[in-house]
Amino acid sequence: MRIDIISIFPDFFEPLKLSLIGKAQEKNLVEINIHDLRDFTHDKHKTVDDAPYGGGPGMVMSPTPWGDAIDSILNTTEQATLIIPTPSGEAFIQKTANQLTTEEHLIFACGRYEGIDARVAQHYINSEKIKEVKEISLGNYVLNGGEVASIAIIEAVTRLIPGVLGNEESAIDDSFAPGEMEDRTEGPIFTRPPVWRDLEVPEILLSGDHKKIADWRKSQQSSATPKSS
Ligand code: SAM
Repeated sequence: MRIDIISIFPDFFEPLKLSLIGKAQEKNLVEINIHDLRDFTHDKHKTVDDAPYGGGPGMVMSPTPWGDAIDSILNTTEQATLIIPTPSGEAFIQKTANQLTTEEHLIFACGRYEGIDARVAQHYINSEKIKEVKEISLGNYVLNGGEVASIAIIEAVTRLIPGVLGNEESAIDDSFAPGEMEDRTEGPIFTRPPVWRDLEVPEILLSGDHKKIADWRKSQQSSATPKSS
């Protein structure tokens, strides 16, 4: 899979060099390219924003550098899915990750300030080089920028690429995995020692009875509705 990320904070993506995603890149399972939006500006201040039409507080990201940055990536590729993180997008859930993991090329457009001029999404919906424009929300709250949302999406999507997870981290039994777990989350998990600070591991897990353990684990799963206080 190829991933291109456009942001005014390229350093935000340093963590993608670590851990499983870092190794996935070393193994050529994933190629990640980071682009600085300011490299696509044409003034000496490298301006990427302007005042909103209609007035109001804050600044809006100008479509001009966004168009140039996205076009420069599309010049080197067949077709890509353009992902624009935004609170007004479709909710990001495991099914979205399952779908995106089958794509060959994802481009992430990380907004800042009040967001990106809406014409960027409109324009690329009609572009032959774009398979789909997906506006995606990480949840009903507001982040400062699309970078954290993009990293969360990239992590959820790339861990599903065959070979990215080792056996010990296999995604088959994870919460929300396709099949029986689709609408469920995993129950509590334990490791050694059997007693820690007077708290005992449930006896059944020490029984060696695989059928009973499987039934108990199933009984401990929860339905996937997020808990809120
Ligand atoms: N003015 C926008 C609004 O009220 O919906 C919020 C803009 S926010 C400060 C700046 C950027 O952060 C957005 O353009 C988007 O890229 C990102 N962002 C913020 N919250 C997000 C969320 N819940 N999901 C995905 N991206 C988010």
